[in-house]
Amino acid sequence: MAESYAGSGPEDQRAAQLAENLNALRTRLDAACAAAHRAPGAVALVAVTKFFPATDVLRLLRLGLREFGENRDQEAADKAARVAGALRGPQHLDLAAPRWHFIGQLQTNKARSVVSYADVIESVDRLRLVAALDRAAERAGRAPTCLIQVNLDPDPGAGADADGRGGAAPGEVERIADAVAGSPALRLGGLMAVAPLGADPRPAFERLAELHAKVLGTHPEAVSLSAGMSGDLEAAVAAGATHVRIGSALLGSRAPLR
Ligand SMILES: *Cc1c(COP(=O)(O)O)cnc(C)c1O
Repeated sequence: MAESYAGSGPEDQRAAQLAENLNALRTRLDAACAAAHRAPGAVALVAVTKFFPATDVLRLLRLGLREFGENRDQEAADKAARVAGALRGPQHLDLAAPRWHFIGQLQTNKARSVVSYADVIESVDRLRLVAALDRAAERAGRAPTCLIQVNLDPDPGAGADADGRGGAAPGEVERIADAVAGSPALRLGGLMAVAPLGADPRPAFERLAELHAKVLGTHPEAVSLSAGMSGDLEAAVAAGATHVRIGSALLGSRAPLR
């Protein structure tokens, strides 16, 4: 995709497509909030831009979005740098800076890199990673918000699947939350989960909400519940999600997963 994208003008069909998708998505989110007796706008939208170029991030910034999700460090670091560079150019000076959410499986040796651009790390799922993130954030003078990713698979024995669904076993979540809360350079933001593959997301999201209520009991600051993707946002909103992470319903279908 052309890097020379000017960011405006009726000739940009991609911008028009994204605007149309965003309108449809907002209508769907509003309906989900109404059905769940929640205020319209009660749920924040994180645009998952993995596989899509920095130019799409600029288009979505122009449409008023601010929160972006990425699941691979290399791609995310590259895109964040491109967007930051473009925002320094005269065409984009009026745009607010994005907030990057890291939502993919994270190896401890990537902690330094991820901490350099991510404002929110949604996929914290083990104590060793908490320690690595705390060290990296302290060195970088950053204070990222961390969500504990919960594995909602009723049979987690198989481990992470091809979609990169990771997460802590529900029984480990409170211990990891305590560790994040006790880490000077990290903030505990809440919980995150992906619904189990090929199962009704509702009971899974309800278990997640119960766990969130428990964590909130000890950590009242952990208000975020990141759940819901393009295929199951209604179930997540019904269960009390504060954030949905939307890729394909906004940006279109991705190339087959690598
Ligand atoms: C890709 C991804 C999403 C977005 O998925 P869509 O089905 O395209 O909306 C959300 N969360 C995570 C963790 C992802 O990896």
